[in-house]
This record gives sequence, structure tokens and C-alpha cells, in this order.
Amino acid sequence: MEELEFDECPACESKKIRHKRGGITHGRGGREVRIPRATYWECDACREQFYTMADMRRIEEYLDKYPGRRKVAA
Ligand SMILES: [Zn+2]
Repeated sequence: MEELEFDECPACESKKIRHKRGGITHGRGGREVRIPRATYWECDACREQFYTMADMRRIEEYLDKYPGRRKVAA
């Protein structure tokens, strides 16, 4: 799959964005799930966090590995 990359913040259009690796808290289904080893982009200007497809896939894999941490969708 082709990886989508960002060159500006989708929230404020700042170019001061960085790809980071670390723990994030991801809101999902009305709950917050802690992902200890995620990759994500963060905007230095507004602190918005956003994800590429690859980042999202890592988050999904983590959630699949720890199903007890989320509601099971029907
Ligand atoms: Zn921003």
C-alpha cells in the first residue's frame, strides 16, 4: 500500500509537523485507549495529532491484539 505522508498540518496548515514515535491516547468508541508504541504526526503549532494509513494500521493491530481494551463491535 502506498503510504500517505503529510507536509502540513491538516488542522492549521502549519508546516511545523513532525513524525513521532511513542505513546498516544486514541479515542475510540467513546473510550480512550492508550497505545504504547504508536507512530503519529504532531503539529508544533497547534498540537494536533494525526495519522498516516501506516500509523493507523499499527494502532489497529494493537487494538486487535488487546481486544479486552475495547468494545467488541457486532
Ligand atoms: Zn496545526
